[in-house]
Amino acid sequence: MPRALKVCPVAGCPELVAEGRCARHRREADQRRGTAAERGYDHRWRQTRAQVLRLFPTCTEDGCAETATEVDHIDGLGPRGPRGHDLTNLRAYCKPHHSRRTARDQPGGWARR
Ligand SMILES: [Zn+2]
Ligand SMILES: [Zn+2]
Repeated sequence: MPRALKVCPVAGCPELVAEGRCARHRREADQRRGTAAERGYDHRWRQTRAQVLRLFPTCTEDGCAETATEVDHIDGLGPRGPRGHDLTNLRAYCKPHHSRRTARDQPGGWARR
């Protein structure tokens, strides 16, 4: 019994893969992180993000009372992750705390650009 194949999650890509992305897109993802929209930071994400900021108007970092302006994925996978729009996987942060957290998750990542 062969393993069930899925279509590569990259929009418009017809390749079938056992898990994750096809070889080409895996390589591409390694080479560059892509634009914000390609990473899933699209219209739907803006709505989810606004919802989280309504629920958690202040930073959820212990001891921080700053106004939350950023939404973080606890699993570190972003909106394209399996729980990218799951409210239990999302946390509101002020900008400094989110930058710190993102830098920790993604060494050399976009947060420091
Ligand atoms: Zn692909
Ligand atoms: Zn904070």
